[in-house]
Amino acid sequence: MSTLMPAFFIGHGNPMITLSKNTYTEAWEEIGKLVPRPKAVLAVSAHWYISSSAVTMSTAPSTIHDFGGFTRELHEVQYPAPGSPELARHIKDLLSPKAVELDNDWGLDHGTWAVLRHLFPKADIPVVQLSIDRTKPAEYHYELAKRLASLREEGVLVVGSGNIVHSLHAYSWGNSAAQPYDWAVRFEKQIREFILKSDDASVIAFEKLGNDAMLSVPSPDHFLPLLYILGLRKENEEVKFPVEGFDGGSMSMLAVQIG
Ligand code: ZN
Repeated sequence: MSTLMPAFFIGHGNPMITLSKNTYTEAWEEIGKLVPRPKAVLAVSAHWYISSSAVTMSTAPSTIHDFGGFTRELHEVQYPAPGSPELARHIKDLLSPKAVELDNDWGLDHGTWAVLRHLFPKADIPVVQLSIDRTKPAEYHYELAKRLASLREEGVLVVGSGNIVHSLHAYSWGNSAAQPYDWAVRFEKQIREFILKSDDASVIAFEKLGNDAMLSVPSPDHFLPLLYILGLRKENEEVKFPVEGFDGGSMSMLAVQIG
């Protein structure tokens, strides 16, 4: 395949967003229309944050509703995309000698399907998930991503799903348009500047941003999927931010497009 697939980090926000039609979901739909049709999707979701690296092997991954307290409609959403054991094994090989488990239990969590049902509503493109090993430092995730760069030449669309700023503690439930906090705006702006300067080392060392980082990234799960996208970037490759905005004052909906 001659086309180099772009890669995306998507800010997924509150899972209820997926059921609304708003500027975020419309922008996600647009991304799905603009990208060349992928052979498969590799999703790295904030919500598969475990103590190892694993890839989903199922040929028919289940739709996991990994949350509580939302509407019945959200609990009934299905995203019946097929899996791809072939791609899962290929990813394991690419990441070798790092240990990667072939997993038969996990399916697609809401970090993945909340976004993909807008990008590819027909659910007809195979999807594989790669977990985030919570025991490893940020550099480790960036290095793993570098080993996956060739997937872009093979027609695989890599999607990282999380949020650059993700504070549930400060989140204004039911008030999507709440004024974003100063620390959230500053942190996102700084990360965006690092990305524009191709200064990945500073993104990896985000904790050096002190209090703004502590408030914006209280736990690294939603931030780390970004590193899986930045690690795929070729030298001097273009980067865009196709979706922008804050939800509930403390969730950055920023999307980052490489290529
Ligand atoms: Zn989330």
